[in-house]
Amino acid sequence: MEQRLDYYSLVGFKSGSTSPDELARLRIEPERTALFLDFDGTFVDIAPTPDAIRVTDRDKTLLDQLSKRTSGAVSVISGRNLHEIDSYLSDFQGTVSGGHGAEMRREAKALPTIKCDLERLEHIKCAVREFAAVDPRILAEDKSFGIVLHFRQHPELEGKVRDFVRSLVGGDADFEIQQAKMALEIKPKGISKAMAIERIMKFKEFRRRTILFAGDDDTDEIAFSWVNEQGGITIKIGDGLTLARYRTRNPASFKKWLREQLKSASKGA
Ligand SMILES: [Mg+2]
Repeated sequence: MEQRLDYYSLVGFKSGSTSPDELARLRIEPERTALFLDFDGTFVDIAPTPDAIRVTDRDKTLLDQLSKRTSGAVSVISGRNLHEIDSYLSDFQGTVSGGHGAEMRREAKALPTIKCDLERLEHIKCAVREFAAVDPRILAEDKSFGIVLHFRQHPELEGKVRDFVRSLVGGDADFEIQQAKMALEIKPKGISKAMAIERIMKFKEFRRRTILFAGDDDTDEIAFSWVNEQGGITIKIGDGLTLARYRTRNPASFKKWLREQLKSASKGA
């Protein structure tokens, strides 16, 4: 807890000074908005294991409708690998960023990825896999540019996992630890969802629109902070301290709100 408060003071959060508004109060104009949607915990429910999530046909239709209404200014911004997102959203033609901004594709075209010390990364991955192999409660998830240690059903393991990743990359010049929901991730320094959003906002279909970013996790807070600075709209899905300006309960209530925006926009058109 102490560490979490330190983190929020670092990014400018003062306890008690910010209280997100109910998302239900907000109305947007899709025609003037650039939508950036986190995936797990925001657009789909978190599942006990990363590969147990479900994307319904209704979800896919919603993404499609949002894409049409915004003339393509919809982007899925995830910590997952790009190819995983694509396996769930194979028909989505919009921009997708994976690995917290390390990978990106626009329409069907992959864009250049970040530079990273691949040899060092492979050593880190080997050590993490060995650590996870001896404790079946811990799951190692390989990323193109990092690796995640999940302890989703065993919160009591957080200390043990944290000690391990600190011993592995604490003070490392090229890699850093990122806190996620019931997980710790090792990733190259300097990549972030904020960086991905900034890059995507230069694409012509996104330019000059109001940024809207929705996320659910501590890993989304830096992007909330950056989007707030740009005068954008930030939405936190679920409980917890946040820098986001709006909050809604869960992915279902968020998607309901998105559908309402499409309806009210079409009535007004
Ligand atoms: Mg998430």
